[in-house]
Amino acid sequence: MSDTTPLLDVQGLSVSFATDRGRVKAIDDVSFSVSKGEILSIVGESGSGKSVTLMSLLGLNDRKTSFVEGAVSFRGKHILEMPDRELRRIRGAGIGLISQDPMTAMTPVYTIGWQIAEAIRAHENVSKKAARARAVELLAAVGLPNPDEAVDRYPHQLSGGMRQRAMIAMALACRPALLVADEPTTALDVTVQAQVLDLLLRLRDEFGSAIILITHDMGVVAEVADRVHVMYAGRMVEKGTTEDVFERPMHPYTVGLLSSIPPLTGPKLARLSAIPGMPPTPENIPAGCGFAPRCPHARQECAARPPIRRDNDHSALCVLDDKETDAMRIAWSNRMAEA
Ligand code: ADP
Ligand code: MG
Repeated sequence: MSDTTPLLDVQGLSVSFATDRGRVKAIDDVSFSVSKGEILSIVGESGSGKSVTLMSLLGLNDRKTSFVEGAVSFRGKHILEMPDRELRRIRGAGIGLISQDPMTAMTPVYTIGWQIAEAIRAHENVSKKAARARAVELLAAVGLPNPDEAVDRYPHQLSGGMRQRAMIAMALACRPALLVADEPTTALDVTVQAQVLDLLLRLRDEFGSAIILITHDMGVVAEVADRVHVMYAGRMVEKGTTEDVFERPMHPYTVGLLSSIPPLTGPKLARLSAIPGMPPTPENIPAGCGFAPRCPHARQECAARPPIRRDNDHSALCVLDDKETDAMRIAWSNRMAEA
């Protein structure tokens, strides 16, 4: 693999589910890649398709009820065609997963200390005792109280929040080349949230790990991500560097998300200009632009599939032209200045 090959490359990923009313498409032609040491954030409201994207690219969804198309390669190897055994090995060693449901990453039959120690020993030649000591350190680092005792607990003996932290410790233990983290800080209080983000940054800085960070929190994105992909109704509607997306958003949905970040200074508003309405479920995604029903700029053309507009590495799926996008940004920054 040459240095320019992305660590993870996803091309044309589409996912449909079998439902009572036939097949419905939840993810539609999603493509992206992640390079070594890079932090990519995928952001979007709840129901946008972030978790389905992640689980599908790791081969983790139910093969009986979901249909996955597209190509996913990790270090140049196509992982969707891999036998389960090989895929499990990659998920253990090369790719670490922090999922929204801790029990997909842990087994109920062993103590968390044992599971973390095994994860360490799977690719490092260390004694059981040293691995256990590292497990205790990791549990302390993710803010688990009494890590010396917690290390001998079974997952079901921990509260949901504690299990979440144990899973983060386990994912970090492998020092994976790629860490995939699905809303890792959502259930945590602000202090621990900051600690966890700090650990993620350290993983990147010390081991050159790449991270895919899924979140609905634009504040978290601004703090840690190099690049951002905005997801809505199963599509990536805007992609760019964090700077481009925050300073020159191209898609009206991104503008809506940015407007819902609480101001850092000044009085808190009673209600932020969040986007009215809700994302559609896969059964109800409109044929054209998925965001059109909630978009203040929608017009007739939006009933057709939106074109890709590009500005170098920055792109969006939207009909607005440059002049209209500029006008949208100006109106947005005026609104923010008033707020
Ligand atoms: P989020 O962005 O919040 O992570 P998800 O990826 O979990 O969103 O879900 C995207 C959409 O797909 C949601 O509307 C969800 O209800 C739907 N969905 C997820 N899993 C299934 C499934 N197995 N069958 C049918 N619909 C599903
Ligand atoms: Mg999710």
